[in-house]
Amino acid sequence: MKIPNEFLDKLSAVIDDDCVLLDSGSLEPYSHDETPDLQAYPDIVVKPENNEQVEKIVRLCYEYNIPITPRGAGTGVAGGSVPVVGGLVLSMERIDKIIDIDKGNMVAIVQPGLITGNLRGEVEKMDLYYPPDPASVDSCSIGGNVATCAGGMRAYKYGTTGKFVQGVKAILPPGNPISLGGRMIKDVAGYNLSSLLVGSEGTLGILTELTLRLVAKPTFSVDLLAGFESFEAGADALLTILPETGIHPAAMEFMEGEIVPLVEAILEEELPFHTAAVQTIVSFEGFSEEQTDNAMEVVGEHLLNKGAIDVLVAINRQESERLWRARRNIRDALRHRSPSIMAEDVAVPPTKVPELMVGMKKIGESNNATILGFGHIGDGNVHVDLLRDDMSDSEWENAKEIIVPKMLGLAVELGGTITGEHGIGFIKRKYLKMFYQDNFVSSIASIKKALDPRGLMNPQKVIV
Ligand SMILES: Cc1cc2nc3c(=O)[nH]c(=O)nc-3n(C[C@H](O)[C@H](O)[C@H](O)COP(=O)(O)OP(=O)(O)OC[C@H]3O[C@@H](n4cnc5c(N)ncnc54)[C@H](O)[C@@H]3O)c2cc1C
Repeated sequence: MKIPNEFLDKLSAVIDDDCVLLDSGSLEPYSHDETPDLQAYPDIVVKPENNEQVEKIVRLCYEYNIPITPRGAGTGVAGGSVPVVGGLVLSMERIDKIIDIDKGNMVAIVQPGLITGNLRGEVEKMDLYYPPDPASVDSCSIGGNVATCAGGMRAYKYGTTGKFVQGVKAILPPGNPISLGGRMIKDVAGYNLSSLLVGSEGTLGILTELTLRLVAKPTFSVDLLAGFESFEAGADALLTILPETGIHPAAMEFMEGEIVPLVEAILEEELPFHTAAVQTIVSFEGFSEEQTDNAMEVVGEHLLNKGAIDVLVAINRQESERLWRARRNIRDALRHRSPSIMAEDVAVPPTKVPELMVGMKKIGESNNATILGFGHIGDGNVHVDLLRDDMSDSEWENAKEIIVPKMLGLAVELGGTITGEHGIGFIKRKYLKMFYQDNFVSSIASIKKALDPRGLMNPQKVIV
């Protein structure tokens, strides 16, 4: 779309010209996120330095009917920050300060462009802890995390990002600032609008300030690695830890055996239990060595009783880092084997994970395709990746069209959902209509219409 000169003139009264990008070379980094095979150029990128500028930019866009795509760090994998209809990308990358870490009230007040890992680092210096830890923690932003309600490894114990949002400031269309919640813990005045903004993927407004709940920093941690001869045995062993021992691990992750050689190839080292059907990691955090030692012993024995081939213990940071390196390299290892992948992140009730994996394998086999699974077994959020391998373009298009709905449909059939943490964004819109009640979808559309009647806030995302 053509950006009117009048708009550009008014914009330069709001923000310095060097914070406005217009040439295609500078626009390129804002034409994609981490979603495979999705690119669309914006007509203009604006990088405000403060929220007064954000408000004025939003007002200007509504005055000139210019679509706005909010952007954090662009690590999303559902295409949420890709400007699919062109228009203006509002990049929050420079609004990235920690405003306050309030230990008395156990909250941090931060700007949305802050990189999540930086917040974690700063609060830990004060013996505080911000638990949400998406695997992209060192590159994603808090604003993006809140807008997608990001999950991560420790969501099993602590919950997803939304559980930590105590207050939200935002600019709603057509440029109205709103302040919800804050340092107070309880607040039931009116509807819970801050919860509505959590996970809204930039379709209802721009998040400009977040008040995030903090907890005390655990002082001890221990990681266990266990291999199992069958997926069912591994799943049963992990999922019975809490009900049978009363010990709540911080994280419980798995990787199918077929993925192990792929990770070994890129790390150039042999992993423990490298012929096992499934590899698992169980992590504990606590406030005394006695507490984590006890967890290690009780749960180690539990895993062995449930059929673990063996259990390895990482007792220091270096060993722990080695265990987690394999987990963190799964995505790269899969991409190394198959440059194109449909990476789904379904979630089911945790006890249904074995059934989900059996079903996924059947879907793969009956369609001559490979589906590999890994992820957060504790909270039932499983990453199931459909690999292109050596399929031709038309075979791949066909596979995506036929196999992906079957994968998502299976999760829904098992009482689960089509996305546990990545969001609907652009790429899953059609599945929202396919798998969810008409009343649910039309309610979402009504809320969108009420808050953004002209549909300029992140168009074509979540709901058409
Ligand atoms: C290697 C890798 C690992 C990952 N691991 C995980 C994981 O473990 N768990 C997980 O949940 N996700 C994971 N992700 C996905 C991604 O990192 C998360 O979705 C993250 O929350 C996106 O943050 P971002 O700052 O990059 O947001 P972006 O990609 O820039 O945007 C994401 C969405 O948020 C909106 N948005 C961003 N900022 C604002 C704002 N200030 N106001 C309003 N809307 C806004 C955008 O419009 C878009 O819809 C991973 C991605 C990668 C590449």
